[in-house]
Amino acid sequence: MPEADAPTAAAPKPSKSAPQKAMEKLGLLRDIDLALHLPLRYEDETRLTPIADLREGVAAQVEGVVVDCQVELRSRRQLLVRLKDDSGTLLLRFLHFYPAQQRQMSAATRLRVRGEARVGFFGREMVHPVVKVVDDDTPLAQALTPVYPTSAQLPQAYLRKAVASGLARADLRELLPAGTVPRHLPPLKEALHFLHHPPPSASLAALEDHSHPAWQRLKFEELLAQQLSQLQAQRERALLAAPALRAGPGGLHEKLLAALPFTLTGAQQRVAEEIARDLARPQPMHRLLQGDVGSGKTVVAALAAAVAIDAGWQCALMAPTEILAEQHFRKLVDWLEPLGLKIAWITGSVKGKARQKMLDAAASGEAQLVIGTHAVIEDKVGFARLGLAIIDEQHRFGVAQRLALRNKLKAGATEGHEPQAARGPAAPLEPHMLMMSATPIPRTLAMTYFADLDVSTIDELPPGRSPIVTKVFTESKREDVIDKIRGAVADGAQVYWVCPLVEESEAVDLRNATETHAELGAALPGASVGLLHGRMSPADKAAVMAEFSAGRMSVLVATTVIEVGVDVPNASLMVIEHAERFGLAQLHQLRGRVGRGAKASVCVLIYTPPLSETGKARLKAMAETTDGFEIARRDLDIRGPGEFMGSRQSGAELLRFADLQEDAPLLVAARRLAPELLDRHPAAAAAQVRRWLGTKAEYLKA
Ligand code: ADP
Ligand code: MG
Repeated sequence: MPEADAPTAAAPKPSKSAPQKAMEKLGLLRDIDLALHLPLRYEDETRLTPIADLREGVAAQVEGVVVDCQVELRSRRQLLVRLKDDSGTLLLRFLHFYPAQQRQMSAATRLRVRGEARVGFFGREMVHPVVKVVDDDTPLAQALTPVYPTSAQLPQAYLRKAVASGLARADLRELLPAGTVPRHLPPLKEALHFLHHPPPSASLAALEDHSHPAWQRLKFEELLAQQLSQLQAQRERALLAAPALRAGPGGLHEKLLAALPFTLTGAQQRVAEEIARDLARPQPMHRLLQGDVGSGKTVVAALAAAVAIDAGWQCALMAPTEILAEQHFRKLVDWLEPLGLKIAWITGSVKGKARQKMLDAAASGEAQLVIGTHAVIEDKVGFARLGLAIIDEQHRFGVAQRLALRNKLKAGATEGHEPQAARGPAAPLEPHMLMMSATPIPRTLAMTYFADLDVSTIDELPPGRSPIVTKVFTESKREDVIDKIRGAVADGAQVYWVCPLVEESEAVDLRNATETHAELGAALPGASVGLLHGRMSPADKAAVMAEFSAGRMSVLVATTVIEVGVDVPNASLMVIEHAERFGLAQLHQLRGRVGRGAKASVCVLIYTPPLSETGKARLKAMAETTDGFEIARRDLDIRGPGEFMGSRQSGAELLRFADLQEDAPLLVAARRLAPELLDRHPAAAAAQVRRWLGTKAEYLKA
């Protein structure tokens, strides 16, 4: 933060104008930020079109002299201006106008107007064109006019000026040594000036679809900065020491395997070995374990924990929600306590003495496994000897939380523990890190993009699962669905019913969970119908989940709080209301709550018409496939990779220009150049990262 922003006792803050504040909100603080704020599209004010040549629906600029200007009352009050040039007459129509406008466009005034022409009842006309009063020698624009992404408080003209001066002031020196940038790309400075003010001859199509070499140069720069920062993080990590955690024969991890009620799938075995190999190395692991919902990631995590604990270290397992953390806790207690392990449980709702006891157990090393929500990351939790941190559903944690965790782990690991596993005289030990996610990133994408992340993939479901049948109904079939539920419940089935909102707020037409709960309770007399939503206390949530898990509750009406990770194998019917309001990945996650046992499962998606095109595509994808990787692929198709990566994967939200699918060749080039640059031109590499990522570089490592 600039010092001017720090609150001071005496000096009153200089008040900022609304546009200034809006610019700050958009992150437009430094000259370079402004220079990198690129146009969405352009307007062509470099030429004039004769009125007679105007074509229906095509935007154009026209210059002429006002013949007359008057307010008329047709179907409504409107301002009509007739404009004439050598070729013909054009009617300008204003449905909203100020008296000043009327005066400005008085007869005999010369106007330059821009807008889309249409051919109406009164001949050629433009509705609400942009109007400028000119002289007969006012010059035309020399370059296309940029239109920038902006917000309501920030007028386009203000922003345009700010960007132009930012661009003029910004340091755009070439940082990359000659010969390192792909040959067909222009210098950065040239590329930026071109993109902000393209000459009239530029291809608008290539500019707008970002295929122009000037755009390519920017994308390359961005990808290079990202690759450099990841490579740097990877190298830094390679210099760090971690405890080498080896799974001995007859150890805890074998005992756990023997005690499990099932045998591992081939895929589970493979990824467990990949993880064990990493753990045995004296460098910190940084691995993402991805696998479809229900593929059995939890047991792989438990096996990794067993290895760490057997080697004499502590393990922390973190989940994004209390429900999920609690469920992990119950499952791991089941699996590991019989083997003599001590497990602590820390979430926001564990308070007072109980909490202190857990904290003490973590700090003394008595608790070998600590399970919880992000509360585990909070300052007060210290570990005696943290050897492994596991983060479930890692994409659910915010960037800030991931960053806090990383710092926390660093600090925790350096606190005094015995030199047993340390190799240097004072080598601080970092814990290994395992992240888990059910939102798969296409593998090739992950490998090229995340230079600093190893990826293990479970690509097989446990045996004996019957595929989930997905059916799509309109809202008008709701009663029929309830009838079906009545039958299923009578046969002993357990049902999830998911509603999108807890309380009626802005969207009054949403049936809220409470109402649905009452409705289903009345429609299913004799069945136990429970309710679960985000506003309930953690204890109440846990109590409801326990009822449902134990099979004492038939129907669970819930909001998306059940979305991640909930595991009740006996549940076999899932109803999702207003399915059109959910994203594809979210629908897939929700559906993943059923089909976890041997029972044939059904997922019913109820939507309220009309469906948008993307809504239609999402429901179709859901009906056609249950394969998480295929869903991820379709999600990419429907939404575009920027958005897909953006909201889901760590660091990726920081890519502004490049598109990982489309710009794969640039990514490959950047990936190739990064090590060379880091080795032979470290100063240039550092400057590149600073220019592009600034303070965000820290986040990229998280
Ligand atoms: P996710 O990958 O979505 O986290 P879970 O770890 O919750 O999946 O596993 C889903 C269910 O499958 C759990 O009930 C788990 O006990 C069970 N499971 C895991 N691995 C196997 C296996 N190899 N054979 C049979 N069931 C398994
Ligand atoms: Mg899970």
